[in-house]
Amino acid sequence: MKTSFILSAALAIHDSILNHETELESLDRAIGDGDHYINMKRGASTIVEIQAELEPLTPDAALNKIGLKLLSTIGGASGPLLASFFMGTAKVIKEKGDESVQTYAAAFAAGVDAIRQRGKADLGEKTMLDVLIPVAHQFTALAAANAGIKEICISLITTAEHGMLATKGLIATKGRAAGLGERAIGHIDPGAKSCQLMIEAVCNLFSTQ
Ligand code: ADP
Ligand code: MG
Repeated sequence: MKTSFILSAALAIHDSILNHETELESLDRAIGDGDHYINMKRGASTIVEIQAELEPLTPDAALNKIGLKLLSTIGGASGPLLASFFMGTAKVIKEKGDESVQTYAAAFAAGVDAIRQRGKADLGEKTMLDVLIPVAHQFTALAAANAGIKEICISLITTAEHGMLATKGLIATKGRAAGLGERAIGHIDPGAKSCQLMIEAVCNLFSTQ
């Protein structure tokens, strides 16, 4: 992975978040406090704005800097959680130092684990983890089976969509929506939606490389 790919991915994520303003805002208004779109937009814009600072860095240093920047710019629950994702991935990329698909899968899984630990949440709690955990498992399995990058990208986009849609039927046991009980049923979790969008944007970019 080149730092230039990380920068292109940041731009693709930024564009996708901005293109889904209405949806992200209304999802958080339904079961949260309505700020999720603003939080995500602030985070995505900040990373695009520091492109020149990121450009000369190695990929692991760039990912770590993205994490630190998100920690200090995104408010709400999602800021520190997404920040730990990037710092978690950075650690694995730095340690393994190779360009294999297996390393990318391991880095992604470590990032998801960092979110899990930080938020003390797991699968089925109606959070972003309902997208991220199944995607991490699928990525690890396909990488281990030496699947091609295109096949992996298509599969991860579908897995993310399923995970995002599945949050609709769940009761929240973490985050702001946890206080709503059964009233949260019927609404997609906003963090799950934004993670699905980010995965889709990066996979689409990766498969056209
Ligand atoms: P806030 O909830 O503070 O207003 P955001 O609206 O930006 O922050 O983010 C809300 C999203 O954060 C939720 O939709 C959910 O996906 C995610 N989230 C909240 N708490 C947790 C947690 N403990 N673990 C994982 N994700 C969480
Ligand atoms: Mg919110």
